[in-house]
Amino acid sequence: MTVLEGGCACGAVRYRLKSGPMFVNCCHCSDCQRQVGSAFVINALIETDRIEQLSGELTSVAMPTDSGRPHLHYRCTACGTTLWSDYGDRKVMSFLRATTLDRRDALSPDVHIFTRSKLPWVILPPDVPAVEVYYDMEKLWPPESLARRRALLGEG
Ligand SMILES: [Zn+2]
Ligand SMILES: [Zn+2]
Repeated sequence: MTVLEGGCACGAVRYRLKSGPMFVNCCHCSDCQRQVGSAFVINALIETDRIEQLSGELTSVAMPTDSGRPHLHYRCTACGTTLWSDYGDRKVMSFLRATTLDRRDALSPDVHIFTRSKLPWVILPPDVPAVEVYYDMEKLWPPESLARRRALLGEG
């Protein structure tokens, strides 16, 4: 695939992806809606070490969560754009904000999640899976992505 690069709004933070993501979630949950100030967020799930930060400085900001588990946003210290976040403070896996890529159309959602709080005027495409809350990764992720995730989290 072509090399994917992206950055924050002010241009201080630039990054390059060393590979494509494992999976792309489009999240319609109310937390994401508030955090990004929009209808949904597009998160590309990728190994943190496959995000090569080329420039700029990041700071992490903890978001409140229902689960009580940490959710850290990584933001440009200059402009505050969130580039990626880390659910559960696992370090090894990041949720990259897909529309911070230079080519904002490079990644499209593999699944729509938390559609129970989807805004009513957002019409989902019929050919992409959509779930009320979350989904079974074993059923939706391609085998090579599941293998990457297992390697990463040391499961199974
Ligand atoms: Zn910036
Ligand atoms: Zn969400």
